[in-house]
Parts: sequence; C-alpha cells; structure tokens
Amino acid sequence: MEKNVYIVRMGEVALKGLNKSYFERMLVDRVRKIMKKYPETEVVRSEGMVFVRTLPEVPQETVIKEVSRVFGVDSISPAVEVESDMESIQKGAADYMLALMEKRPNMYTFKVEARRSDKTFPLQSPEIARKVGARILVTCKVLKVDVHEPDCRIFVHVRRDKTYIYEQKISAFGGLPLGTNGKGMVLLSGGIDSPVAAFMMAKRGMLIETVHFHSYPYTSERAFEKVKDLATILASYCGRFRIHSINLLPIQEQIVANCPEEETTILVRRFMMKIAERVARNNGCMMLITGENIGQVASQTAEALVVTDACVSMPVMRPLIAMDKVDIIEKAQEIGTFETSILPYEDCCTVFLPKHPKTKPRLEQILQSESKLDCEALIEAALAADEVTVINPVD
Ligand code: ATP
Ligand code: MG
Repeated sequence: MEKNVYIVRMGEVALKGLNKSYFERMLVDRVRKIMKKYPETEVVRSEGMVFVRTLPEVPQETVIKEVSRVFGVDSISPAVEVESDMESIQKGAADYMLALMEKRPNMYTFKVEARRSDKTFPLQSPEIARKVGARILVTCKVLKVDVHEPDCRIFVHVRRDKTYIYEQKISAFGGLPLGTNGKGMVLLSGGIDSPVAAFMMAKRGMLIETVHFHSYPYTSERAFEKVKDLATILASYCGRFRIHSINLLPIQEQIVANCPEEETTILVRRFMMKIAERVARNNGCMMLITGENIGQVASQTAEALVVTDACVSMPVMRPLIAMDKVDIIEKAQEIGTFETSILPYEDCCTVFLPKHPKTKPRLEQILQSESKLDCEALIEAALAADEVTVINPVD
C-alpha cells in the first residue's frame, strides 16, 4: 500500500563529528519507539536524513505532533516521493500543485526552489526549478510564477535514490536524542519552574527521574495528582520515568520545633537536596536538576543558593537560573505544562512558611542550627518511606 512520507531533519545531531552515527541511531530509535503504536510505520535513516513512512489513515497532524516531540529533530516535512528522473519529478510536482490548489482556491502564484544532493544528476538546481515550474504552468493554468512573494513555495530535493517534493517545514524542538547524556534526578514540585527545567535538560539528551516532596496530610492527595499530571505531560517528551515521593513532614516538624523560624525555608531546602542526592545515587543519576532561578524568591537569592549548594557534592543543574519569569512562563506554555502548574493546590514549601524568611543566610549559622537535629536519622527515615510511581506517556 502507498504510504505517506515525511522528511525528518536532524539539527545539531548533523553537526556531530565521529559520533554522528551513534546520535543518529539514538534519534531513529526514539522515533521508532514513539511511532510504534501506528502499525506498519517505517523509520529509516539515509544520508543524514530520516524518513518516516506511515499508512495513509494516520493523520498528518498526528505524525507531526509525535515526531516533533523527539529531541534531536529539527524539522519535519510531509512530502511526496518520486523517482529521481526529470519526467517523474515534473509530473510529481505538477500533481502536487493540483492537489494543493483544490485545498486552497485563493492560490494564484508559486515559486519552485530546487536542490540536488546528488551531484551526478544531469541538471543543476536552477535548471531543475525552471523545468518543474514550466510543467506546473502548463498543468495548472491559473497559476503564475512570482519569485518574490509567491502564495506558495514548493521545494524539490533531488537525492540519489529518490526525489522529495514538499511545501511545509514544521519546526521541532531541536536538542539531542534522549539517552545520549546520562541520567539526572529532577526535584519536581507542582510549580511552573521545575517541569520546564526537566524539559530543558531532557532536550539536551538527559534521561530523567524525579523526586517529589510532600507534607501529607497537610498537602492533599489531589496535590500529588497534579504533580502526576505534570509528569505525564513531561513523559510525552522524556519517555516513561519514575517519581519518588517522599514525606517531608517529620523533618519540617523537627525544624519548626528546634530551629529559628526565619531559617525554616533554607533548612527545608537543604534537606530536600540531601535526600534527592541519596535517591539520585541509588538510581544511577549523576546530577540533580532544579527549577531554581536567581532572585525569584527568598530561597533563591545568591546567598541562599550558595548555602543550598554546600550540602551536596553532586553537581546541581539549574537550567533556568538566569531566565526571566516571563520567558519561563512562555516555555511552560509552549511545552504544555503551564495550565496544570497554575492550578491552586498546596505545596510542601507553603506549609510552615516563615513570616520573614532569611534572604541572606550564612552557612555557619545554618550548620549550627542543623547540629540541633539528628539529620542522618531524619534522612534515613524519609528515604525508607520512598514511594515510587511510574509515569507513562499518554497521547
Ligand atoms: P517551582 O515552580 O518549580 O515550584 P518555585 O519558584 O516555586 O519553583 P521553590 O519553591 O523555591 O521555587 O523551589 C525551587 C526548586 O526546588 C523547584 O524548582 C524544584 O526543583 C524544587 N522543589 C520545590 N518544591 C519541591 C517539592 N515539593 N518537591 C520536589 N522539589 C521541589
Ligand atoms: Mg514551588
């Protein structure tokens, strides 16, 4: 059966040197995995491009939506595939335009742009474009050529094996294929920032796993449902991953009972980081990832970040550190997490929120306060109650 063809272009992957083939294979594997639910889909790579062929009943928008979620993909074009000889190319292009005209009655002008990667092809690119244009003028009598502002621009790409005719080039996220850059542990809250941070690291090829802290029963089941909803959206890009959910309440209670009130936030944050580091080590993660952003809140002043950082030895990635909030929000909207993030459910950080949190904590002072707690026992107890939820992508 005749299948629909899509050209999938690799962005940065194409710039890789000796390792290019490895990155390409990882990308193709991801495309295959994401398209597995559509029977008889073929995904092949050929000379720096990937070609996806699907049964005609799979809608074009579906293929574009699925494939554009694969990191490493730069753009996608639904295309028509013909033999690489001039007659087939001309006929293919004319048929392509006829079909387009049916969909767009207000189309009057066009331009053909040709490119050949097969340098042995007998005609050069401008000549190919001219001949294809001439055939379209004969076949589609109402159309005229306009090389400056055409209503429609079609591209003809002559390759050794086949030639591709297409119009649209739909941008994807770019980045690098998942799994090409180790695994990181994301501290995932229900807020706006941490899902964006997770997305950004995964886009650079990092597999993710997540840890979420709650203060049950002060935080509700419904609050955790919200985190799972966010995770499910993330999983459509990052693949299946796990959430470790950990109850922070016993630790928060100890802090409130034994330490100065204005230090509560920073002390809680240090516990979160220390616990996350242990969970990370136990699960093969080499880095921690947070949605912290300098200056955003009291716990993210330069001084507070220094004090937070000092409690772990694992590198902490903060991909949003220098972004403005409006840009983070825009990113959250683009990836589809924003609407869920702003749903109003309580977070463990808002339980026992001090009236005047310390914005310029000093490490010696914080260590002094921590010495009043049996930190190791508290961390061990929290880890022992780690509950794991597996998150699967849904459509
Ligand atoms: P977010 O929008 O990601 O919640 P935020 O602006 O609310 O961030 P904070 O609450 O100070 O900032 O949290 C900073 C970072 O600490 C978060 O981005 C996240 O990585 C981590 N974090 C905060 N709360 C939690 C939580 N309940 N569970 C796991 N990680 C958390
Ligand atoms: Mg938060």
